[in-house]
Amino acid sequence: MAYSFDDECDYLFKAILIGDSAVGKSNLLSRFARDEFRLDSKPTIGVEFAYRSIKIGDKVIKAQIWDTAGQERFRAITSSYYRGALGALLVYDITRRSTFSNLKKWLHELREYGKSDMVIVLVGNKSDLGHSREVSEEEGQKLAETEGLCFMETSALESLNVEEAFLHMITKIHEISSQKSL
Ligand code: GDP
Ligand code: MG
Repeated sequence: MAYSFDDECDYLFKAILIGDSAVGKSNLLSRFARDEFRLDSKPTIGVEFAYRSIKIGDKVIKAQIWDTAGQERFRAITSSYYRGALGALLVYDITRRSTFSNLKKWLHELREYGKSDMVIVLVGNKSDLGHSREVSEEEGQKLAETEGLCFMETSALESLNVEEAFLHMITKIHEISSQKSL
């Protein structure tokens, strides 16, 4: 599924959450999708997803956002997880440096299996835990610049910047896709 049509909306597309285990991916998604939350946890697929519709101009855009069902723990995410995704939130935990160091691996996978023009937002989560911070905001910003990504620090716990991070991704995807269909 890419950018396609659906009864309830003008556009429907897939986006994914990626990053180390326990960085807060599932909490970010449930924050964002709380008004229309749906979990599909078939073990055979090993994927959960939620929908959220937003309005841009007079169009209703529906994002189907995929979350891992813990496979990232075993680095066992398959190429089908990435397939067709137009956007990704690449998440690390600002209080665990290893989750930041591992971003290179995740970026490598994203670029190997994902679309070349995928919109990637780098997300430093758990900004509420400033006292145990191991990765500075500048480091996140710098990596994002080097890799050509957007960057935001968030707190799923305090609901800081969560809406902004997802909306940024969705708006950017819409921009790119509507330019293509002109
Ligand atoms: P996932 O494995 O990446 O899906 O991570 P989860 O969403 O399951 O979260 C892992 C742990 O981090 C849980 O104990 C959450 O309560 C906690 N957590 C997630 N987001 C935040 C946050 O923004 N701030 C704080 N303090 N804890 C968080
Ligand atoms: Mg999870």
